Amino acid sequence: MKVIPIPCLNDNFAYLLICPETNEAAVVDPSEYEPVFKEVQKRKVTLTTIFNTHHHWDHVGGNDELSRHFPGIKIHAHISDRDRVPGQTDFLEDGDFVQFGNQKGSILHNPGHTSGAITYLFGNMAFTGDTLFSGGCGRVFEGTMEQMHHSLNVKIGKLPDDTQLYFGHEYTENNLRFAQTLEPKNEDIQSQLTQIRKLRSEGKWSTPSLLSSERKINPFLRCHDQTLQKHVIQKQPDTNLDPVSIFTVIRKLKDQF
Ligand code: FE
Ligand code: ZN
Repeated sequence: MKVIPIPCLNDNFAYLLICPETNEAAVVDPSEYEPVFKEVQKRKVTLTTIFNTHHHWDHVGGNDELSRHFPGIKIHAHISDRDRVPGQTDFLEDGDFVQFGNQKGSILHNPGHTSGAITYLFGNMAFTGDTLFSGGCGRVFEGTMEQMHHSLNVKIGKLPDDTQLYFGHEYTENNLRFAQTLEPKNEDIQSQLTQIRKLRSEGKWSTPSLLSSERKINPFLRCHDQTLQKHVIQKQPDTNLDPVSIFTVIRKLKDQF
């Protein structure tokens, strides 16, 4: 399966997925119609499917116009997003399988950012929407801190090291600057930040990111790490030393960063 990132709005990514055997395509999180339509035309593929990771407007904004231009297009989202995702035709639950062309995938339900947030898995590729970013995670709007921690560390965290993460926003540089405040001596964060700044100055993006690398640089996957815990305790001495409490403190600090 071929994946083409499509930058949308200010810092969103939609992703065009192409089945090389049938020339069918799917789009993950079409924020807006125009850039997705242009990419579909340019690649001369048949768009049959939309995969929405959650209901926020910057991930579903292109649904209506795409379904007008591609009648019969299937629109997938979590079952609990019924009435919140425009044009939804397929109502998914944790572990469900999805398909377009000959490409078969499955979903993980990741409540936290929203109650119906899901990740789409195709082989070693994971489309995480606003649940997991490179160096960070989405704000906890509809779920609890415990749910978000579980979604990131147990559901997504269980995936193999070589999983390629295709996330919903180019927030990496800012995320890593925040990560540095928690682990000033973490050399993986420092070198990744240097690399990302170079990429960005060349007009390139940081998507996708490897899960093995996220385990070294993403504070929201590192709440069990003793060095990180020590820094959090210095900032907020009354914090309990369990991963969910650490997660809660750093998510709140990030909200104000
Ligand atoms: Fe969102
Ligand atoms: Zn978003």
